[in-house]
Amino acid sequence: MTQAISVLDRIAEEAAQGQWSYTEFLGKLLEEEMAARQERRLAIRQRMSRFPWVKTLDQFEFPFQPGLDEKKIRELATLRFVEKAEVVLFTGPPGVGKTHLAIALGLEAVRVGYTVYFITLSELAGQVPRDRTDPLWTERLRILSYPRLLIIDEVGYVPLDAVASYFIFSLVCRRYEKGAMIWTSNKGFAEWASVFAGDEVLTAAILDRLLHHGTVINIRGRSYRLRDKLHAGTVVTPPPSPPHPESKTPEAGDSEYAR
Ligand code: ADP
Ligand code: MG
Repeated sequence: MTQAISVLDRIAEEAAQGQWSYTEFLGKLLEEEMAARQERRLAIRQRMSRFPWVKTLDQFEFPFQPGLDEKKIRELATLRFVEKAEVVLFTGPPGVGKTHLAIALGLEAVRVGYTVYFITLSELAGQVPRDRTDPLWTERLRILSYPRLLIIDEVGYVPLDAVASYFIFSLVCRRYEKGAMIWTSNKGFAEWASVFAGDEVLTAAILDRLLHHGTVINIRGRSYRLRDKLHAGTVVTPPPSPPHPESKTPEAGDSEYAR
């Protein structure tokens, strides 16, 4: 009842002023307590999801990425794909918002009560036991099969060895049609074999399962990270000159480069 205690004085005052009945007073107090508890639970579940940073769908500027179908993303945000244990794959070059969108969808899922876990592929590979008979192998698989939505970020930056690749294949098999996943990659699917120890057969088996009930969102646009740098590159910086009373004041359009 921590929240109830901390708001007791304020609510008692409001109750006295508004001449509330005892039931109204108690109702209001419990309402505040429940809301605070729910918020705390949400914060805990969000922390357990291990998002590297927090970005929402509202913070995503769709006009910056005109090639991206906003309707499709909004449809994904209804989380039907989580309910149906389907897969979403975001592909595209660095900086186009793949991780941002994955996190935003993950946050939506946490908000409505799904268990979510975020991990990069290289982090995941680092946790794979060296030996398939190690009891930790099954334990890791079990843990990664638990969340309703598993987000695997950054396929393509770090190549995996044969053991880790086989682990990923096992994981994909375990989650296939049972648990939803979001994958992000800077590589086209044709290049995925280079990530999974050069094993074309294993990679085909992984992709087969991912794409069977998968939605592929290929973002082809510009890097959001570089947008300021690109702007800056278009500005010719004049040499510094002493202030002059008639010097030109910046025009509205100039401010774009100052962002
Ligand atoms: P990627 O995973 O594709 O390399 P990120 O999702 O990490 O790219 O995006 C890089 C940074 O740019 C992040 O801080 C992200 O929030 C931001 N960002 C990318 N695209 C957009 C966008 N369209 N609107 C707002 N922020 C964006
Ligand atoms: Mg990323």
